[in-house]
Amino acid sequence: MNSLMITDIRARAVVAPLSRPVRTASGSVDVSPLILLDVVTDQGITGHAYLFGYTPVTLKPLMSLLEQIKPELIGKSCVPLARMQQMEKRFRLLGLQGLLGMLLSTLDMAYWDALGKAANQPVVHLLGGEAIPVAAYDSYGMVDPVKDAKAIEQTLKQGFKAIKIKLGDVDAQRDLHVVAEVRRIIGSDVALMVDYNQSLSPKEAIRRIQMIEAYDIHWVEEPVVAEDLQGHATVRQSVNVGIQTGENWWFPRDAERALSAHACDMMMPDLMKIGGITGWLSVMGMASAASMPMSSHIFIEASAHVLPVTPTCHWLEFMDFGSMILAEPYVIDKGHVTAKGPGLGMAWNESAVARYAVN
Ligand SMILES: [Mg+2]
Repeated sequence: MNSLMITDIRARAVVAPLSRPVRTASGSVDVSPLILLDVVTDQGITGHAYLFGYTPVTLKPLMSLLEQIKPELIGKSCVPLARMQQMEKRFRLLGLQGLLGMLLSTLDMAYWDALGKAANQPVVHLLGGEAIPVAAYDSYGMVDPVKDAKAIEQTLKQGFKAIKIKLGDVDAQRDLHVVAEVRRIIGSDVALMVDYNQSLSPKEAIRRIQMIEAYDIHWVEEPVVAEDLQGHATVRQSVNVGIQTGENWWFPRDAERALSAHACDMMMPDLMKIGGITGWLSVMGMASAASMPMSSHIFIEASAHVLPVTPTCHWLEFMDFGSMILAEPYVIDKGHVTAKGPGLGMAWNESAVARYAVN
């Protein structure tokens, strides 16, 4: 079969409501600003992927950026690695970090979706794996142990064996109180991760982590500014909890830099910043060689396809920014998520897309 050829790329911006807004120590996410990409090919197959813009202010520049680069992709084969190399070369002087990197990574996911659909297989099969259930953790923002107790109990009823909460607002005493209360609610058999969302100095991070260590913390995520690899390494040497980071790494070279700096015990690259599925494949090799557990960051659907082939697969993050616009959202089954196809197993819920569309 000839390779698919890209004949058009369409994009729609939506701002969808969140059933559970995410409050962090570095700002809140109250809605889900998304760009829905359709990569149209000459064989009647269209690849889908969504980009998560973090804030609605990114949507217009992203739409405009796509319009600018689209002509350079139309007429080319739908071959993820070749397209990534084309764009790397094209934007060597600018660099791929930022909005451009988010767009190219999302395009990569859409190319893979198209390839899966063309083969009538889930993407995980194309990657050499099987659609096995992947253990997921329920990912919360800041929690109020009283107001959120019911939601957390619901999480346990759904079979989750791990839960993550955000810390770092107010003060250390508040962190300690929240951790103690959440640990009491979930009991000793459920893993508890905490995420400071880059909000602390290395010194303050060490002080706060030492205060909560006794509560059997599964990992501490981004205690300091993500780019501060030395700060991460300093914190890591001074605490008895594993340090997790990676959601703000741009493309595989950032993963290599973090590993070289001994910045973390575990990694959690973001598919939309690491170079899509193609970038993930590079990084999973590094993680495997370093025997480093590797988890996903948001993007439940594509993560369910890449984690089964990740040799050091750890946890899938269940933080949902996309199901509102999907016809058949991925579901939690006994705390696990399983890849489905064809492709990435995503179709748009057109009436929801129309409802939440923005210009
Ligand atoms: Mg995080």
